[in-house]
Amino acid sequence: MGTRPLLNRRLAGMGTTIFAEMSALATATGSINLGQGFPDTDGPAEIAQAAADAVLAGRGNQYPPGPGIPELRSAIAEHQQRFRGLAYDPDTEVLVTAGATEAIAAALLALLEPGDEVIALEPFYDSYAACIAMAGAVRVPLTLRAPDFRPDLERLRALVTPRTRLLLLNSPHNPTGLVLSADELAAIAALAVEHDLLVVTDEVYEHLVFSGAHHPIAALPGMRERTVSISSAGKTFSFTGWKVGWVTGSAPLVAAVRTAKQYLTYVSAGPFQYAVADALRLPDDYFDGFRADLLRKRDLLADGLSAAGFRVFRPEGTYFITTDITPLGEKDGIEFCRALPERCGVVAIPNVVFYDDTEAGRSLVRFTFCKQDEVLEEAVSRLGRL
Ligand code: PMP
Ligand code: GLN
Repeated sequence: MGTRPLLNRRLAGMGTTIFAEMSALATATGSINLGQGFPDTDGPAEIAQAAADAVLAGRGNQYPPGPGIPELRSAIAEHQQRFRGLAYDPDTEVLVTAGATEAIAAALLALLEPGDEVIALEPFYDSYAACIAMAGAVRVPLTLRAPDFRPDLERLRALVTPRTRLLLLNSPHNPTGLVLSADELAAIAALAVEHDLLVVTDEVYEHLVFSGAHHPIAALPGMRERTVSISSAGKTFSFTGWKVGWVTGSAPLVAAVRTAKQYLTYVSAGPFQYAVADALRLPDDYFDGFRADLLRKRDLLADGLSAAGFRVFRPEGTYFITTDITPLGEKDGIEFCRALPERCGVVAIPNVVFYDDTEAGRSLVRFTFCKQDEVLEEAVSRLGRL
């Protein structure tokens, strides 16, 4: 095959995702997997039943419509109105995708030209770097630093150049647990308007905010026409394998994203789309209970990690806790995570893989708490042996 590498240079070095690597390590060693973020308990039984009913009734077993089934697009629009006060036309301003992952890919492939600069909060969720690269664009990190991980807004302003096309946001933020405040979002929005930038905002943890509130940047002045908002059913309803996500935005933005999306998967998850439409219409009790449950788990794991000697950055949102391993006499998160299954039968994620500025992330390690209480208690007791 000659000497030319098979993998194109845009993806060179991107190898296997850290989530796949660490979940395989958990399986191989029989460890408790607090790495990859997926719950060990499925979502509501009536929603699972709705998916099974759809399959058996022949709803969605053949290609659903390209933009998503009308029932789900309406439910997404209602959900945006009910929780965020945002009005979207289900026919032209809503698009169903194969998880948030496809929404991110389609948005970046649709909206970027080669050479465009994308400013993104670092550490970045792993698919951002890959999709920016596949679009031929350039990532420009705004580094969030321990202990509070707040964005440096002066620095953000300084990062904008004539080549900046897009701000890629994620709030609540994976892996730090940062939730952008109303003031921070207002400053970011003002900058976007001033420089005529697009904003793509990944809000998959929108229902997991423990202090303060989730504020949609799309609601701010001048933002509706420049913001692509992304969310997904995976996290909110604890069905991460269904891969039903969505995009909301102005009709021209959604049309652009749809153009790219139709050549990625075209469509997906037919019967699950019916079930997710039901899920989005669950009463407030469901969303409140979900958050309260995860808040209790957050504190269970955070207290346990502190007792085990980690420096804990208690998250404002998401189901991840970032810790610093320095107090344990450790410096390198990758080495630490590779050895952890052997040392005490627990798997975690080294945050450094989400950084360009590797010094900023070297000693940080992420644990998820979307697991049963007994599992978290056992993990904490094992980590206590460190
Ligand atoms: N964005 C962030 C920040 C995530 O943590 C995840 C993982 N759920 C995704 C996107 C991908 O979501 P989905 O599983 O819906 O593709
Ligand atoms: N979003 C999940 C996490 O951060 C992982 C999803 C994936 O494996 N791509 O753990």
